[in-house]
Amino acid sequence: MNHAPQVTFEIQAECPITRARAGVLHTAHGDIETPVFMPVGTQATVKGLSQRDLAEDLDVRILLGNTYHLYLRPGHELIQRLGGLHRFMSWPRAILTDSGGFQVFSLSGIRKITEQGVVFHSHLNGDPHTFTPESTVDVQLAFGSDILMALDECPEYPVSHEYARQAMRRTVRWARAGYAHYAQRMAGMETRHALFPIVQGSMYADLRRECCAELVNLDADGYAIGGLSVGEPRPLSLEMVEAAEPLLPRHRPRYAMGVGMPDELAEYVARGVDMMDCVLPSRNARNGYLFTSEGRVIIKHARYKEDPGPLDPNCPCYTCRTYSRAYLRHLFQAGEILYASLATRHNLQRYLDIMRRMRHAILLGEFPKYLDSVRSASAQLE
Ligand SMILES: [Zn+2]
Repeated sequence: MNHAPQVTFEIQAECPITRARAGVLHTAHGDIETPVFMPVGTQATVKGLSQRDLAEDLDVRILLGNTYHLYLRPGHELIQRLGGLHRFMSWPRAILTDSGGFQVFSLSGIRKITEQGVVFHSHLNGDPHTFTPESTVDVQLAFGSDILMALDECPEYPVSHEYARQAMRRTVRWARAGYAHYAQRMAGMETRHALFPIVQGSMYADLRRECCAELVNLDADGYAIGGLSVGEPRPLSLEMVEAAEPLLPRHRPRYAMGVGMPDELAEYVARGVDMMDCVLPSRNARNGYLFTSEGRVIIKHARYKEDPGPLDPNCPCYTCRTYSRAYLRHLFQAGEILYASLATRHNLQRYLDIMRRMRHAILLGEFPKYLDSVRSASAQLE
């Protein structure tokens, strides 16, 4: 594929022992220090947080939006008419959108997979729709995303080797078709938009390797590893990253989709992952499950009823600086809206802090030490 890079990746330090790297991803909407965690803004919002919370308080540099949801409502054409997703949601920094494939496979009703794409029914009203490798590129270009994802088939877990192979081969063909269309659309376009293909292959290392070997021919600006966190045991997800990573070009960012718990982030980074996203910090926050530097806090527990201390004494976030555990518990029990906002703000801060700490450790050449401390801390909690 012959086109100018749409995002560029600069490696600043590499761990001499693990595969961890620290770098900067340059996009049309700003620079992003890696490894990076991308909060999920499913419906063009990180639930409960304003643009000011995200950009000014938390200093988030890149958000993830879900193509499936935004395509169905309010629709990509409406978003385009209103100036694209950045302007629509008043977000001046980078946006990555997924291809919609994952939600089609996990959320929508009856669906039919053909060589051309996937036919599905909206979970909102049952209307039939089709995503093709070409149409998902068009939808994401209408959003104006900085990073687009190629349409992929994400099989459930477990599946047979034979089915996983068919789905992986289809994903490769779709990536090629999507790329050809993308190259045409980009010719003469003045704004910058990268397209990342997605490595699939279920939990079979040979298929993951085969998929990488095909996808690197696209010479993409970055590569995603998908099909993780679909119910498989955690060691398997890490094994799949290990299978893929050595085959991916060193100077392009790698994005592990949909991972993980706080103590898993270092495991992915140790395996050469630069970008991650997950709904856990925001979803768990709303459900009363908070991540702190001292382990998890289930805020509804009676032990916090009269606890005047901060949620996490080591956390610099607005929630921890301002409110007590007792007050947060009260808000949660009362079903108050403010609870979701304060809790999400804290959980995201926790994830972002972990990423910053890892980046710092890689730059100082101390990542192996950091990894050891995370491993022994999580072993103690178990
Ligand atoms: Zn906090």
